[in-house]
Amino acid sequence: MKALIIGSGLIGITSAYFLSRCGWEVTVLDRQEGPGLETSFANGSLLTPSMPEPWNAPGSWRVLLASIGRADSPLKLRLGALPHLGRWGIEFLRNSSPENYERNTLKNLNLALHSLAVLRSLRQETGIQYGCASHGSLRVIRDPAALERALAWGDRLRAANGPAFRRLTPDEIVAMEPALAPIGGQLAGGIHYPADEIGNAYEFCVGLADQARRSGVDFRFRTPVSTIEVRQGNVTAVLSGETRFTADRYIVAAGSYSPLLLKQLGLNLPIRPAKGYSLTFENPRLERQFKLPINDDDFHAVVVPLEGAIRVAGTAEFAGYDLSLPESRIRNLMNLVRQVLPRAGLTRAQAKPWCGLRPMTVDGVPIIGPTPLGNLWLNTGHGHLGWTLAAGSGQLLSDLLTGGSPRVNSGEYALARFNRAG
Ligand SMILES: Cc1cc2nc3c(=O)[nH]c(=O)nc-3n(C[C@H](O)[C@H](O)[C@H](O)COP(=O)(O)OP(=O)(O)OC[C@H]3O[C@@H](n4cnc5c(N)ncnc54)[C@H](O)[C@@H]3O)c2cc1C
Repeated sequence: MKALIIGSGLIGITSAYFLSRCGWEVTVLDRQEGPGLETSFANGSLLTPSMPEPWNAPGSWRVLLASIGRADSPLKLRLGALPHLGRWGIEFLRNSSPENYERNTLKNLNLALHSLAVLRSLRQETGIQYGCASHGSLRVIRDPAALERALAWGDRLRAANGPAFRRLTPDEIVAMEPALAPIGGQLAGGIHYPADEIGNAYEFCVGLADQARRSGVDFRFRTPVSTIEVRQGNVTAVLSGETRFTADRYIVAAGSYSPLLLKQLGLNLPIRPAKGYSLTFENPRLERQFKLPINDDDFHAVVVPLEGAIRVAGTAEFAGYDLSLPESRIRNLMNLVRQVLPRAGLTRAQAKPWCGLRPMTVDGVPIIGPTPLGNLWLNTGHGHLGWTLAAGSGQLLSDLLTGGSPRVNSGEYALARFNRAG
């Protein structure tokens, strides 16, 4: 069987790899020069089954409304983006009821746990190197009541097969991660999640694409897809300029651009871009070794040690498809990383700023599976969890297409769930 995948980010590449391993003939089209150059490029690098929650937590509408006009808000709504959000915005808020939030969290949790298991075997099988470290992650919290809430929620997830965690006092935090010594006195406590991992998503994309290429996957870069041609309920070709690409099955894994591609077919995907930023500091000077990724609850950001670098990532902005890098947002992340690692001496001149568009669904759960068009499939909408969910999503899509046995309940990720919800 022949598959054609649009998109060579984390999701398109993992899909290609697993399909080709099942003996399928796979072609991947991407408008960029190489793999992983859009949202998968400089993300937060964390793989966190410990944090499978969608972003529309109960009460998130208050945070969004309060963000209008504030440059430093972690979750930000720009007024200009409101017309593009429309019905998506209403559904996003509808999904923030406590019942929906918990149900959607558990769907992500199941896929995240599966995904990390798949990733471990993939590492063994391929030997790819992407700066993976498996010491877990550290969540630091300043407010005692917030710490108790986080622990209670962790217990609830654990009761649903969620990952183990350990409560830490400020002293234990500093003993575990000495780079946090300067801020130990500000903390109410923290939580260590041993199952979490870190890894450079871009290096993973390059490494896995290379493996996939060697096993026969045909990557066509600098190939922007403009049209998906449909006849009698089936896709007949995908067009890039004058070139027509044909296959038996077509898979859209185009991240935040997936809804734009499908609009021409009358399919309205409930995905909108949520912009996020990162700063990467190469060769930082730290007096103490920094080895654990820090998730700072109060700043809604992560500070992560990469090989020879520190990366800070965070903030979500509903600002349409804008990819500008305003100095105010960079300053915001600079302030934040300085508050977490005040002695690292990190400067603006050292920082490499980046932004990406997280493909956010209304319920915060990805869309994996068939569409109403017979041979058109989706693997998209992974939002802020695309790295965590990538390996499991690629394998799930491949299982569904090749008749394998999915190890998660595939109906939970199907596009059809939105019809059922009305
Ligand atoms: C600041 C930030 C921090 C993040 N941190 C984390 C984290 O710590 N952990 C985590 O799990 N996730 C994180 N994420 C989320 C994660 O990075 C994304 O969910 C993931 O990268 C999405 O992958 P993708 O393959 O769907 O999309 P992309 O990587 O964007 O890939 C889509 C591909 O489709 C191609 N494409 C689009 N349209 C067309 C077209 N018309 N023709 C041809 N090609 C096309 C693009 O060129 C692109 O290569 C973060 C995201 C951001 C922005």
